[in-house]
Amino acid sequence: MTYDEIFDAQLDTLRAEGNYRRFADLERRRGQFPRALNRDGDSEREVTVWCSNDYLGMGQHPDVVAAMHETLDLSGAGAGGTRNISGTTHAHVELEAELADLHGKEAALLFTSGYVSNWATLGTLASRLPDCLVLSDALNHASMIEGIRHSRAERVIWRHNDLAHLEELLAAQPFERPKIVAFESVYSMDGDIAPIEEICDLAEKYGALTYLDEVHGVGLYGPRGGGVAEERGLMHRIDVIEGTLGKAFGVMGGYIAASASLVDFVRSYASGFIFTTALPPAIAAGARASIAHLKRSGAARAAQRARVAEVRARLDALGIPHIDNESHIIPVMVGDPMKCRFLSDVLLREHGIYIQPINYPTVPKGTERLRITPSPVHTDADVEKLVGALGDLWAQCELNRVPLAAQ
Ligand SMILES: *Cc1c(COP(=O)(O)O)cnc(C)c1O
Repeated sequence: MTYDEIFDAQLDTLRAEGNYRRFADLERRRGQFPRALNRDGDSEREVTVWCSNDYLGMGQHPDVVAAMHETLDLSGAGAGGTRNISGTTHAHVELEAELADLHGKEAALLFTSGYVSNWATLGTLASRLPDCLVLSDALNHASMIEGIRHSRAERVIWRHNDLAHLEELLAAQPFERPKIVAFESVYSMDGDIAPIEEICDLAEKYGALTYLDEVHGVGLYGPRGGGVAEERGLMHRIDVIEGTLGKAFGVMGGYIAASASLVDFVRSYASGFIFTTALPPAIAAGARASIAHLKRSGAARAAQRARVAEVRARLDALGIPHIDNESHIIPVMVGDPMKCRFLSDVLLREHGIYIQPINYPTVPKGTERLRITPSPVHTDADVEKLVGALGDLWAQCELNRVPLAAQ
């Protein structure tokens, strides 16, 4: 067997299961999002994107684009080095101050992505706190899991959002032992939200640090877009708030916000922070403009909420099954990888609607879904078209519907 044959055999396994990933080639057009140009071989078509994590369309916001142009013209393309070796530009300093303020923390630290921020921070905290135990929610994101694994600290998994199980695991440990309770606010695939306050109560009772991934919350919840913890008045009870600049903020990058000591510690010890080139200053400036806008204005958040409620109500009227949650994420359940892929293909080809199928390993087998993220940039006509297309497909493919009586 050649190396390529080994690779191909494993890829064939994915194909046979319907889990092989194909990327749609899209060209977003500034000012027209959620419209994008989709190229497939020689064909080109305009599609409407219904699965973006640029939840509010901030990637095309005039303030963001202007800040990026300005800084690009001022400072050029790249940062030119790691943060330690000439890569700390004024744009990075300002962005970190903006982030600390957003979360009401003493300090913040930037990373090249949310993935890297989780991996580097959890890896560093858990490996350097003596005899640290990490208590990790069962549905935590891959980047948290990898960071915890990399730390080689002992870890225990608590059943998703199960407070009794978390307490049982915490109570079994000496109070003095360093512990980290790691969890998310909005879980990206089911769209459910953690009982943050109760988790903080338990962490306090048993002497644990709280580490909250707010990647799907920042920009979207709270009066200034500080996330679900802000909305619930709990930011001061979280030791480490982690977020991304790539989803609701529409740009790129990741960060943590925490006490000055904790941030300085991660800055000084995390290899995933130290040994990599800083984000381009234009990106930092764009992210800062986005955060500043969403701090001042709740209009996009309110419009998003209205769109989400409308799409949910329309799906309910058709009996199309979706997970009922408190967030902005609408997981429409298909439960079969082949059908999920097929639905996504037909939506794109025949209706110009782009919704990426979500299959294993992103979600457990048997829970394959179309994850819909309505945004303020979707119009009434877009909703009409989406709901019409899904209704037709559900009829054609004889997919399960929720019995009307059960709604
Ligand atoms: C997307 C995501 C991340 C990673 O953030 P990026 O900025 O995209 O690297 C981390 N946590 C969760 C829950 C995510 O969904």
